[in-house]
Amino acid sequence: MKVTEHLQQAKGTLISFEILPPLKGKTINSIYDHLDPLMEFKPSFINVTYHRAEHIFKKKADSSFEKVEIRKRPGTVGICAAIMNHYKIDAVPHLICGGFTIRETEDALIDLYFLGIDNVLVLRGDAAKNETSFEPEPEGHRYAIDLLKQTVNLNNGIYLEDDIRNGFRTNFCMGVAGYPEKHFESPNLATDLRYVKAKVDAGAEYIVTQMFFDNQKYFDFVKNCRDIGITIPIIPGLKPISSKKQLSVIPRTFNVDIPTDLSNEILQCKTDEDVELVGTEWLKQQSIELKEAGVPILHYYTLGKPRIIQNVVKEIV
Ligand SMILES: Cc1cc2nc3c(=O)[nH]c(=O)nc-3n(C[C@H](O)[C@H](O)[C@H](O)COP(=O)(O)OP(=O)(O)OC[C@H]3O[C@@H](n4cnc5c(N)ncnc54)[C@H](O)[C@@H]3O)c2cc1C
Repeated sequence: MKVTEHLQQAKGTLISFEILPPLKGKTINSIYDHLDPLMEFKPSFINVTYHRAEHIFKKKADSSFEKVEIRKRPGTVGICAAIMNHYKIDAVPHLICGGFTIRETEDALIDLYFLGIDNVLVLRGDAAKNETSFEPEPEGHRYAIDLLKQTVNLNNGIYLEDDIRNGFRTNFCMGVAGYPEKHFESPNLATDLRYVKAKVDAGAEYIVTQMFFDNQKYFDFVKNCRDIGITIPIIPGLKPISSKKQLSVIPRTFNVDIPTDLSNEILQCKTDEDVELVGTEWLKQQSIELKEAGVPILHYYTLGKPRIIQNVVKEIV
């Protein structure tokens, strides 16, 4: 079922989760172990992130180095299929431009369609680890909107090979990302919002936001979107804080602010267990306020912390 259908049929605020594929070498059971405790909340869907390959230099026996491509967290598509099969709930793979040519993307979309996957979250992806800024593949997409347009084309039966006539039409429901605190490469919020609007005009059906720790940022973002004519659902993305280290890692990695009240409370904690309690309470209060404001879904970035999410969600469903 499409994310938009879940939303249309909802009687109240829904719950969804995002997970990462496990590091290479682990089994699918690590995903089930992670998700099992969260299933009691009947999530409408589970998002699975996509991680591009990295280049590393590996020392050879003769002491020279060879450049090798490795993907530390492969398996997004397989995990989505496994989740749908195992739990009978919808899975939403993230699809990225980075590291893919447009032809590989077309094949990936066909695989997803054959697997019965109805949804994709369409993203540009982050820069590769060894690059200072995002570089598309020579025959790849530069922006999420380009990948979105390719997906829309496939939904209309338009393939890269123009001699394919009457090709089947996929039927993907397409989500895109939005940034309440603006995307870090954008000169300002207004410009960033214009590009979000362009993605909506190109066919995006819902937006999932970057994490935020101050609900006002989400409310302002929604208002700004509505003011420029974006009418599609805007799903808040929520993440728990569970260690002091995250006070610097989260702003650096995701370019979001941590409110002073929250950082002060965390700085006073003696142990990470104390931080977890503070982070859990903060996320709970955020969730309650968002639910009262009537958000369509509370979307949790679980990131290896199902216990915290469990403790939050059980208080609000
Ligand atoms: C909910 C969510 C899930 C995510 N999941 C993943 C994941 O699974 N894997 C992963 O690698 N990353 C993921 N990311 C991170 C994301 O890939 C990065 O934030 C990336 O830097 C931007 O992706 P985007 O889709 O927002 O890009 P875009 O929409 O392409 O925007 C990228 C930047 O370009 C600007 N821009 C857009 N269009 C144009 C244009 N036509 N001309 C000039 N500038 C333009 C935008 O303002 C923005 O600054 C996720 C982010 C979010 C919010």
